[in-house]
Amino acid sequence: MGDAGARDEAQDDLAQLAAVAAGQLRGWQTAGVRRMTRGSGAEPAVETSPPVEAAVPTTTVPVAAVPVTSVPVAAAPVAATIATDVPVTPPPVVPAAGGGERESLDAVATAMDGCMRCALGATRTNLVFGVGNPRADVVFVGEAPGRDEDLKGEPFVGRAGQLLTDIIEKGMKLPRASVYICNTVKCRPPENRNPEAAELAACEPFLIRQLAAIRPRVIVALGKFAAQSLCRSEAPISRLRGNWHTYEGIKIMPTYHPAYLLRNPSAKREVWEDIRLVMAELGMSGNKNEDLLRGDPQ
Ligand code: SF4
Repeated sequence: MGDAGARDEAQDDLAQLAAVAAGQLRGWQTAGVRRMTRGSGAEPAVETSPPVEAAVPTTTVPVAAVPVTSVPVAAAPVAATIATDVPVTPPPVVPAAGGGERESLDAVATAMDGCMRCALGATRTNLVFGVGNPRADVVFVGEAPGRDEDLKGEPFVGRAGQLLTDIIEKGMKLPRASVYICNTVKCRPPENRNPEAAELAACEPFLIRQLAAIRPRVIVALGKFAAQSLCRSEAPISRLRGNWHTYEGIKIMPTYHPAYLLRNPSAKREVWEDIRLVMAELGMSGNKNEDLLRGDPQ
């Protein structure tokens, strides 16, 4: 073989080697080889691309971070929903002297508004709720509104009401506005008849709520009907008066109704005796009131 033939043969060998090497490289690339370094052994050390499983965390980490960055965005509408659900003005709650909570008198009055729980609701002019100090130590409870009270919507406003005012202001030396005054039923019975048992039963829950709101130390029951009703007794008023009883956990003193005193002025002495017991219970002065004892203060 001459020089030219030997060169041609060498070139052919080199071309074959190059083709083999190129094929080997494509094979490694297909196998995932990214870089080749010198190894200590016969085979070159190779680095391949990470396996598919190893790549998952690198791609899922950002995905997992998405909720973290999106929390404030998602929280905004939730907070807005809560804000609109909270009542702007909380219902009125009157703090109790003992630290608890109790219903307000206004809430009781609102609950009674337009009441038709018994037949008296259909014939009244006005519902006569009650008047006075919502924190009174003493509550005077009469029988039912009369004509004047029905027209005015206020208890004890006629002549009997004036006499009750005198008992409170001249006898007890208290402003009328410092006590509370109401009736067992809040609507006038037709022709001033006595309230019936069903009417009393229908209205009594409201009286109980009034007393629970006021929390008086003493109740004065005015007249036979209120005394028998609150004392749960059929005994005559002449026997009930002058003695302490209990209603809803509150001490109650029955006495004659001011309207009875207008017809029987001599009974004022007994009323004064009862009122003095009330004043003693409240820690008030028990000085005699000569105006009351002499007769009609008017
Ligand atoms: S008397 Fe009492 S229960 Fe009857 S209608 Fe009047 S408020 Fe209602």
